[in-house]
Parts: sequence; C-alpha cells; structure tokens
Amino acid sequence: MKQKKINVAIVGGGIVGSLLALILGLNGFRVSIIDRQKKENYFSNFHNVKSYALNEGSCHLLSVLEIWDIVKQKSQPITKILLQQGSSISSIQPFELEFSADLKTNDHIFNMVEEIYLKKVIREKIDKCSNIECLYSSKVIEQNIDNFTIKLVLDNGQIINSDLLVGSDGYPSLSAKEAKIKHFNYEYNQSSIVGIFKHEIQHESEAVQIFLPSGPLAILPLFGNRSSFVWTMDSNDANRIFKLSDSLFLKNLNTAFQNRRGKIEFESNRNIFPISLAFSKKLVKEKFVIIGDAAHKIHPIAGQGLNLGIRDVAALAEILILSKRLGEDIGSRLVLERYAKWRNLDILSIVFFTDFANRFFSNKNYLKKFSSGIAFKLLNNSKVIKKYLMREASGLNGNIPKLLKGEKI
Ligand SMILES: Cc1cc2nc3c(=O)[nH]c(=O)nc-3n(C[C@H](O)[C@H](O)[C@H](O)COP(=O)(O)OP(=O)(O)OC[C@H]3O[C@@H](n4cnc5c(N)ncnc54)[C@H](O)[C@@H]3O)c2cc1C
Repeated sequence: MKQKKINVAIVGGGIVGSLLALILGLNGFRVSIIDRQKKENYFSNFHNVKSYALNEGSCHLLSVLEIWDIVKQKSQPITKILLQQGSSISSIQPFELEFSADLKTNDHIFNMVEEIYLKKVIREKIDKCSNIECLYSSKVIEQNIDNFTIKLVLDNGQIINSDLLVGSDGYPSLSAKEAKIKHFNYEYNQSSIVGIFKHEIQHESEAVQIFLPSGPLAILPLFGNRSSFVWTMDSNDANRIFKLSDSLFLKNLNTAFQNRRGKIEFESNRNIFPISLAFSKKLVKEKFVIIGDAAHKIHPIAGQGLNLGIRDVAALAEILILSKRLGEDIGSRLVLERYAKWRNLDILSIVFFTDFANRFFSNKNYLKKFSSGIAFKLLNNSKVIKKYLMREASGLNGNIPKLLKGEKI
C-alpha cells in the first residue's frame, strides 16, 4: 500500500484550505490537500455561483501571495453601501443607512470577486508549487494519531502520515467529528438563493441590502454591468421561489428590488444554500486544528464568512511558520493553542454580531421593525459609529496577523 510522510494534511480544499496550503507550501512545508469533489466539479461554473465581498485584510493577504494583482482585474470595488428596511416585498420604509468610501482613507469599502475566478487563480498558483499535492475525489476513511504523527487512510487505499491535520472541510465538518470536537449549532430555517444577473442600469459600484420581513436581499455589484444577488428568506418560501421558471423568478426578484437596475437577465444558474449558525466548542486538539466554515458557520447577512476564514488562515500560517523556524513540533497542543487563543474572540464576536443583525433587522414584528428603523436613523447620523463599523468590517482591527497587513511572515 502506498504510504507517504508530509508536514501538513489539509482535508477540504475550498478557498480557505487552499490558501493555507499555498502559504505553507511557499514556506517549505510539504502539504497534501484532500477534497471529496471531482476536479471537473471543483472548477465548474454550475457549482460555483457565489461572489464574495472581500475586505481590505483579505485583499492584503492575496497581495502577499501575488494573487490580488490577477484577481483585481476582474474584481469590482464597492464604494457605497445602502441598507434599507422593507416592510413588505415591494414597499421600502423611509429609514436607511448609508456607508460611503469617503468615510474611509481608502477609495472603496469592499472588493467583489466571483468564487469561480478566485478558486481558479489560487489553484493555478498551487499547481506551480512543487511542495503541494492536490487529491481530488478523495475522502479520509480513517483518521488516527499514530506514533506522534497523524495517520490518514484514504478511500483509494493511500496512507498519509502527517505532523498535523487541518480540517477545512466546511460545515458540517466530518474531520472535526472524527476528532470528537463538538459544536453548537442553530438552524435559522432560512435559505439563501444566489446567482448573477446582467442589468440595464449601471450599478455605479453601489451595494444594496434590503431587510425584508423574511430576511435580507443583497444586490452586490460585479465587474461589468452585472450584479450578484443573495436573497434570504424562510426555507419553505425559498424552495418554492427557487423552482420558479427563470422569467418568473427574475420578475419576483426585480419587484423585491424595486426594479432599480432596469431589465435583468440571468448570467449564471441559481443555487440555494440552507442557512445555519454553528461554531466549534474547541478549535484544536493534539495534531488537529480546524479553520473556516468547519470551525464557524455564520449568516451571510454581512458577507463576512470567507473573510473570517481568511483571518484563521493568516493566524494559523503565522504560528506554524514561526514554530517551524524555532524547531518546535507544529502539531503539538502547545503550538496549536496559540492559534485558538488568537482566534477565539474574533470568531465569537462575528458569530454573535451576524446573529443579532439577522434577528434585529429582518423580522415581522411591527415593534421590532420600528425600533430597528430608529436604529438605522440614529446610526446614519453618527459618523463616528459608521467609521468604527467600517474599520471593523475591514478586518484590520485588533491584534492582526502579518499577512492581513500585507507583510510577509
Ligand atoms: C449565500 C452565501 C453568501 C455568502 N457571501 C459571502 C461574502 O460575500 N463574503 C464572505 O466573506 N463570505 C460569504 N459567504 C460565506 C462563505 O461562502 C464561506 O464562509 C466560505 O465559502 C467558507 O470556505 P471554506 O473553504 O471554509 O469552506 P467550503 O467553501 O465549504 O469548502 C469546503 C471544501 O471541503 C470539501 N469537503 C467537504 N467535506 C469533505 C470531506 N469529508 N472530505 C474531503 N473534502 C471535503 C468540499 O468539497 C469543499 O471543497 C457566503 C455564504 C453563503 C451561503
């Protein structure tokens, strides 16, 4: 049976796992990425219809990896965010909250990138790094600690011995379950329908989010005269609307969005995601660590899930690279606890903030709606709070890892 010894095995090669693999590979670690998806699905337009609002910290990390200069060519800066309350599907309340780039020293708030494009650029870089091996269509069937290494048996019979196993297999994480790490979870009974459309009227770099009673509808500008939508609502309604014909679906979407972009036309297929809240009770165990959605799954209301996962990557990479330079055992509990200590507070703050925002701003209760409308009005008049919120969203607050500042480790 084929056996090999590496430094880091990463289960789950989504954007989070792939970025970690690339940083470690470029810093002399021998890495294997194990992903259950077939290679053709991993890169298919059909399976990748999401788009991401990347914050400044995430873009800095991509710059250090020489990915940002390529991705930037097809990214779309967001210079204005408009948040509105909608009392019914087609009626917008007068309270609104506006964030514009001039509140910041930078010329934009977020950068929108398409999932498929980002994945392809990262994978092209990985393919040029001889330290990294990508195993598609592969699953771990056994995960044990054996003689001071972690031993993985794959479904094709291959055996991998590694100093450390990283679980970045999304939610729910099988690798975390195998490692007996428990998590807290809450089902919102909401689902998000996502996709990309072309439109008649220019978006002028503006992102709009309307808080409808059943959930938020976000329309986010993309490169060219295109936008991405994330339409969240009760799961029963979402499943019904998801199945409508293209023309009926677009008609409903345009009504909810007040026809602001004129005539709209699909540019992708649509996809539907159940929405839940989950976070792990622990981030590390001996020889094992979890990152990204495997460790925390949050509501898409603030577009922060991937940014949060990228912050995990930046912190973990810094800890592993520095401990390797010091000759420490990278899989030891002592080293891994540094990561848990660094990440716990940020993760919990974002988990609670996104949960609160969803409950407070999208609800059917008249009194709650009224008070959230007042909150919009108060926030809109306070430049100081708006500047603070934008600083938080940039991912640059607190004790941040070097890569997020755009510095090499
Ligand atoms: C509707 C919606 C909109 C969003 N918008 C934004 C946004 O604007 N900005 C933002 O920052 N975030 C956003 N997010 C969150 C973002 O999508 C996630 O946080 C991010 O994709 C997590 O990446 P990941 O690599 O950790 O996990 P995933 O993307 O889930 O990747 C996990 C990988 O692991 C593989 N895998 C799973 N199980 C196994 C297994 N047992 N063995 C081997 N491989 C396995 C999968 O094939 C996959 O490739 C959004 C989420 C949703 C649902």
